Amino acid sequence: MSHKDSMTETESRAAKVMQRADRMASFSETPEHLTRAYLTPEHKLAHAQLASWMLEAGLETWQDSVGNQWGRKVSANPTMPTLILGSHSDTVANAGRYDGNLGVLLALEALEALGDVELPYHVDVVAFADEEGTRFNTTLIGSSGVAGCFQPSWLEVEDANGVSMASAMDSFGLEPQVAGSDSRVDEEILAYLEVHIEQGPVLEAQNLPVGVVTGIAGAKRYEMTVKGMAGHAGTVPIGLRQDAFCGVAQMVTEIENYALEHDIVATVGKCEVLPGAVNVIPGEVRFTLDIRSLSQHQLETCCETLLEKLAAIAKLRSLSFESRNIYQAQAVLCDEVLQHKWANVVEKHTQQTACFLPSGAGHDAMVMAQVANIGMLFVRCDKGISHHPAESVTTEDVSVALDCFIDMVQSFAP
Ligand SMILES: [Zn+2]
Repeated sequence: MSHKDSMTETESRAAKVMQRADRMASFSETPEHLTRAYLTPEHKLAHAQLASWMLEAGLETWQDSVGNQWGRKVSANPTMPTLILGSHSDTVANAGRYDGNLGVLLALEALEALGDVELPYHVDVVAFADEEGTRFNTTLIGSSGVAGCFQPSWLEVEDANGVSMASAMDSFGLEPQVAGSDSRVDEEILAYLEVHIEQGPVLEAQNLPVGVVTGIAGAKRYEMTVKGMAGHAGTVPIGLRQDAFCGVAQMVTEIENYALEHDIVATVGKCEVLPGAVNVIPGEVRFTLDIRSLSQHQLETCCETLLEKLAAIAKLRSLSFESRNIYQAQAVLCDEVLQHKWANVVEKHTQQTACFLPSGAGHDAMVMAQVANIGMLFVRCDKGISHHPAESVTTEDVSVALDCFIDMVQSFAP
């Protein structure tokens, strides 16, 4: 096969992936917006579609105990553990069509392209049924089921309509009492590979179609309460106030400066001013802080120092300050050998030096890291936009990612 012919084949496969992404986007709660949540009729239809494409690609298919859809390229003589490729098939509300789904479709297409190639290991593709947590606010349910960390307490969690996860599983045709019982163990996994849109602007800025992910940032979230003294906006002199919001304004500036100095990201995304009247001095402010870093150590020390700084600002202004940690996720590094392998195939197919970049967003890979070495590849997306209908990738970039994925899947053979 000439070089030109092989280019044409991958390009037509990439075009097929794009069409399939459009088709997947049609399985939605409403026709105007793409929303596909866990254990819904849309989930069922989308996975039935994936299963039929998997069969077409010659894969063995099954659904697991938490509703993930699997396909396997069966090895006639497996002498090594199984390679797992995957991403998620659920979406946020009013989503774009590539977040998660592109990774599933690329994995499936890579296996179809390798139809006649005999490998000494099975290769599984998995569509995780819940990553976003759109319905139950509990994220990463699909990969948790596979990695052996599905929490039975999640079954009691209710959606906005008061339907528990257990009863939603029941209506979907799953047995909640065995949810997570078919998890996989590390000795049986060769590696976990995930291709995902970048969801940020780095690759676009560097004019590169794909990039190698170094790891997934750890995150901590806090809820802060700052209390001062409410009072009359006209009668209390400016120098005699305990204005909680003025204190918080200074804190937010401190947070931004600190993040800039320490090369981390920190965001105050929610702020509530009380009592919230035009003529009353703010007596209390509640705000959130989301802080992330690829280095768990740096995350811990930065949070500690920053909280001290905020408390000091409060003290200077005679305000009370309380912080409550409401969420934390450990930073997870991608396996160095797998990063290297990705870089090799990327350089082969782009003729450019591979770009290594961290992920600021969470992914199924961070849960799969509990049972497997993980390797991730990012695909450039337009302006870094994601979780939005304007999410967009080009067929050319998808074609490069597919070439890389096809090589990567075969690269474990001795
Ligand atoms: Zn995603």
